[in-house]
Amino acid sequence: MQLVFATNNRNKLQEVQKLFPPDIKLLSLEDIGCHEEIEETEPTLEGNAILKANYITKHYGYSCFADDTGLLVDALNGEPGVHSARYAGNQKNTEDNINKLLTNLKGELNRSAHFKTVIALNHNKEQFLFQGIVTGTLTTERKGEKGFGYDPIFIPDGYDKTFAEIPMDIKNKISHRAKATQQLLAFFK
Ligand code: IMP
Repeated sequence: MQLVFATNNRNKLQEVQKLFPPDIKLLSLEDIGCHEEIEETEPTLEGNAILKANYITKHYGYSCFADDTGLLVDALNGEPGVHSARYAGNQKNTEDNINKLLTNLKGELNRSAHFKTVIALNHNKEQFLFQGIVTGTLTTERKGEKGFGYDPIFIPDGYDKTFAEIPMDIKNKISHRAKATQQLLAFFK
């Protein structure tokens, strides 16, 4: 069976492909000849994951799954949330995003936050949603060099190091994305 993962990130695709049973071949957007930028215009992570999966199924006719992730900060009423990638502007700059977040949280004692990944799957004319959450706290300054995005300021619950200090293989087991992906895999097993 062929299944489209609505991404052009080869690393993400290969990582997830390794987890799938061998009879399910994952295809990237490039593999199916989709070169359009699918605009994430919905106000929720669920909405954007569904929008991307539906776009592929409608225009290309494949079974497809798409994901969307955000960092939701309690003291900021869930911001940056669906705006995580562009929190400080359309340039999608990680350093600017972290600076803006730390500035907005200056002096704030409640530093609880969680990452959330939503996966929307269109398969056999039905739609399924999966989600993964990892809760934690935000630091007041960056720590660590690994990972990407908000990793240097996020300490997952149960650890005393940021995601950027924790080895990648451990992050990839406990993360929001890992949890959502495990649910997707359970569906196919
Ligand atoms: P995407 O939906 O996977 O593109 O994620 C949207 C944004 O959320 C990214 O641009 C990052 O800023 C942030 N993000 C997603 N996953 C992670 C993560 O595992 N660590 C840190 N930041 C993340």
